[in-house]
Amino acid sequence: MQKQVNIIFFGAPGAGKGTQAKKISHELKLPHIDTGSLIREAIANKTELGTKAQQFVESGKLVPDQLVIDLIREKLIVLKDKNFNGFILDGFPRTILQANALKSLLEELKLDLAYVLNIQSPENILVKRLSSRRLCSNKSCGAIFNLVTRKPKEENKCDVCGSPLYQRKDDTEEAAKERLNEYHNKTAPLEKYYRDQNKLIDIDGAKEPEEVYNKIIKILS
Ligand code: AMP
Repeated sequence: MQKQVNIIFFGAPGAGKGTQAKKISHELKLPHIDTGSLIREAIANKTELGTKAQQFVESGKLVPDQLVIDLIREKLIVLKDKNFNGFILDGFPRTILQANALKSLLEELKLDLAYVLNIQSPENILVKRLSSRRLCSNKSCGAIFNLVTRKPKEENKCDVCGSPLYQRKDDTEEAAKERLNEYHNKTAPLEKYYRDQNKLIDIDGAKEPEEVYNKIIKILS
């Protein structure tokens, strides 16, 4: 079996971790486990998880730890059964409790965590990026646009597949501010948690996406 590279993309909402994780996952052929997308899918499919999570997500709150821990557990166990070369976790963990649960799970599955890429951006950029973000409605495409920095060529239409674009309910200014509050109160302490374990690598997320991407590729190679 090839050596596995297991990476966490860490950062505030709007820091660009989703955009980068998606590109890196494609480039390095690493499965991308994105808790936000998995939860939104569960909400759309009205599953038990979706029903429990919906109110939290739409108001910008974190969903209860155990729901997300169970979701990640299920995903990693399925991956472990395949001949996989690593994974990218995007949006997990987001609390110390989740990080401790991940540590136990990785130990149980005999997996190592290689890096936590900490994508940092100033607060004023974050709110702006979130409220101007638009997503492709075609799930198998999922391209991400921004009305300021990455405008679609045709209004409200995906450049890649032509499907309509939409704004996430939690990307409105009010919900985005709540998400940033949650980040500061519950997620930011993980920076120290992983720095103390020498896993954290800081990346300047205020730079152009292409530059951030090149930096990440350089680190990972
Ligand atoms: P994201 O797409 O990563 O911005 O996540 C969207 C929303 O999904 C968050 O605001 C939370 O409500 C929920 N969510 C995603 N990941 C987690 C997590 N690890 N813990 C708790 N809630 C999460």
